[in-house]
Amino acid sequence: MSKVICAIDQGTSSSRAILFDSQANVVAVAQKELSSYYPQPGWVEQNPEEIWASVVGVVYEALAKASLSMEDIDSFAITNQRETTIVFEKATGRPVHFALVWQSRQSAPLCEAKKEEGHEAWVYQRTGLVMDAYFSASKIRWILDHIPNGQKRAENNELAFSTVDSWLIYKLTQGKLHVTDATNASRTQLLNLKTGEWDEDCLKLWNIPACMLPEIKNTSEVVGYSASALFSRPIPIASMVGDQQAALFGQLCVSRGMVKNTYGTGCFLLMNTGDQPIQSKHGLLSTVAWKMNGKTTYALEGSVFMAGAAIQWLRDGLKLFDQASESESLALSVSDSEGVVVVPAFIGLGAPYWRHDVQGAILCLSRGSTKAHVTRATLESLAYQTYDVVNAMSEDAQMKIKALKVDGGASRNQFLMQFQADILNTAVARPALNETTALGAAFFAGLATGFYESVDQLLSLWSMDKMFEPSMDEALRLAKLDRWHKAVDVVCTFKS
Ligand code: ADP
Repeated sequence: MSKVICAIDQGTSSSRAILFDSQANVVAVAQKELSSYYPQPGWVEQNPEEIWASVVGVVYEALAKASLSMEDIDSFAITNQRETTIVFEKATGRPVHFALVWQSRQSAPLCEAKKEEGHEAWVYQRTGLVMDAYFSASKIRWILDHIPNGQKRAENNELAFSTVDSWLIYKLTQGKLHVTDATNASRTQLLNLKTGEWDEDCLKLWNIPACMLPEIKNTSEVVGYSASALFSRPIPIASMVGDQQAALFGQLCVSRGMVKNTYGTGCFLLMNTGDQPIQSKHGLLSTVAWKMNGKTTYALEGSVFMAGAAIQWLRDGLKLFDQASESESLALSVSDSEGVVVVPAFIGLGAPYWRHDVQGAILCLSRGSTKAHVTRATLESLAYQTYDVVNAMSEDAQMKIKALKVDGGASRNQFLMQFQADILNTAVARPALNETTALGAAFFAGLATGFYESVDQLLSLWSMDKMFEPSMDEALRLAKLDRWHKAVDVVCTFKS
């Protein structure tokens, strides 16, 4: 057996190790669930030591499953939940607080205060990120304010900040390296997108000492080796990359204008915008897609709050079916939604509407409307919401989207994918391998070590499961979009 790349996919709910061979096939997968702690409503924390222990565990388990040894690993590739914030002592490597997970809201009041002081616009312009508790900056501030002498210890160079990639590398090298990559750095709200360096004004805004921060590296680069004491020999650590950016690369959206959409609980869309960060006029995020050989590629990012979750609601809330996959045959049992429009704004609407105050609605019901029509209309709403984000991206980047690459649970739904292609009037490509996040990290690592030769070789390895070509009549497409936008207007103007 030739060598494998060991991709470590450290996600919010679990840690996984996935072994890829030189043809980008999955050789083995091991997974371990992670505990989350909810000390107060809206707060989400994890134990950094548990994160690390779970990673070591899955690496050994994946190798055992494939009957391979440490000698067979070409390199480690790391992809991770983004923004999650860890502060640890430099002297001992011990975390001073549990990790504040990206969803955690304890620093929201700090962000509100910065907004009121008028800092949102320049921070958005500088970092590409809106002023929100998701990002690491306010989380670091919160931790320093909630441990004894936090600020003083940070200023005395006693404390270090890490995102999860950086924490794992610190542990893998037994404290030798304190590094991160440009994609993870771009989610801290402390990175100047244009210069690629930590931004002094952002650090000042949050009163965070620069000595806490990791060094910023390429996404694809051998940054160091795991300690021999851990895995019997030093193994190259050859990539680190935030999960959504990994999926963009795993989908090989390598040229400007290519977009990937992950249809999970929500949708995550990223568009490759080439060598320039783009300032969105629609509230989309601007971020680093990857940095290779010192050259940065940028992306626009937008998300849909309710995607697969709306299908879960049909299943669990309305009890229309037992399995999410049954939504497909139900939708196809009618030839049309017959005018029914579902706006699943259960927690408001994200980009490009940004209305947290609105609620969901089912419109234009008739006596003949059945659960099939409601299911079909709900699936259609995933495609419409995706259309709105893609449209905002195209306007911001002033380019037409070239292709939509899709992954995630709901991308298995053939009806949805065909409708998506029709509504976008663009081909939708679904890859054979759904493990795009881990694959992207493995691609970056393989390019750094020579395990994979070139992006061209990767393009030849990437195989399609199915291509969905648009086939809807243009007048009908525009009429459907018009109906959707009118329904969104109704929801946005409704006063209860
Ligand atoms: P996450 O990583 O966010 O948990 P997944 O990528 O595992 O999400 O996808 C699960 C989501 O996709 C669920 O919300 C589920 O309702 C939805 N889903 C799964 N299969 C289908 C399907 N065949 N049709 C429509 N929705 C689906």
